[in-house]
Amino acid sequence: DNNILDIKDLKVNYITDEGTVQAVNGLNISLKKGESLGLVGETGAGKTTTALSVLRLIPNPPGKIENGEIYFEGKNLLEASEEEMRHIRGNKISMIFQDPMTSLNPVMTVGEQIAEGIEIHQGLDKQKSMEKAKEMLELVGIPKERSVDFPHQFSGGMKQRVVIAIALSCNPLLLIADEPTTALDVTIQAQVLDLMNDLKEKFDTSMILITHDLGIVAETCDKVAVMYAGEIIEFATLEQLFTEPKHPYTKGLFGSIPNLEEDVDRLKPIRGLMPDPTNLPKGCTFHPRCPEAKETCKKREPVSIDTGNSHMVKCLLYEEVSQSEGAK
Ligand code: SF4
Repeated sequence: DNNILDIKDLKVNYITDEGTVQAVNGLNISLKKGESLGLVGETGAGKTTTALSVLRLIPNPPGKIENGEIYFEGKNLLEASEEEMRHIRGNKISMIFQDPMTSLNPVMTVGEQIAEGIEIHQGLDKQKSMEKAKEMLELVGIPKERSVDFPHQFSGGMKQRVVIAIALSCNPLLLIADEPTTALDVTIQAQVLDLMNDLKEKFDTSMILITHDLGIVAETCDKVAVMYAGEIIEFATLEQLFTEPKHPYTKGLFGSIPNLEEDVDRLKPIRGLMPDPTNLPKGCTFHPRCPEAKETCKKREPVSIDTGNSHMVKCLLYEEVSQSEGAK
């Protein structure tokens, strides 16, 4: 197959004083070359844990990958050596975090920081690495003369551009961006997203974009996975999700039936809170908040089913339909 990434039945737990947190609970994702996937959901849904698992950066303890396989270019990363992972991180898979300052070194010039990764991963000498670093700066819209400046001499949006330059400097096959524009103000957000879109096209990079913002998904992604309590409860193309959201949780996120032209900047708050992750509800984990919940939802856990054209949904309402159709 031509998938660049295949995550199969991933389970990740954190051991806390309050009990075992099931952060990711049987997650499956596949991604093709050049495709971009939006991972959407509230804080605590398991989005970042999923991303950190791909890079094998789950802090252990308290975290532990309990089960699953993560195939990248056909190789199971969960069986790779630490040395292999070091080669993959920042080279074949890059990650951009929410706050650019966590990724930038305050005492190195931005040019040196971009060049460092190129030197390590691509084996170019110092001078060639710096030349490429300057090219990357220009590519993200920063004049190359500024390569000698330090991070504090840049605005928030410019810093995130530098981070993007670092992330893309080794032509990664996969870019994981975790709320990359949340720390930026709205106009700068749009510019940074445009930049990421352009560069993704140019380099044919696959991308996983983690966000709680459906507006960002609409601008950036081909496919969308909606996460709730450690699981993907709906998986669809952007078009399918925006024209025909199926899961009651997804419908709640949109508020009403939306369309792509409408302004759906922020997720609409949904009544109730995320369940206690150390003690998830039985049956469907969404049932305490679901406006369409029935008695069976408290007892039986739904399975993910294809409602047509690979539009997957994990909800008993759709299982019943497909079962009664099968019984005809
Ligand atoms: Fe709601 Fe039941 Fe579907 Fe869960 S299974 S989302 S509780 S209708």
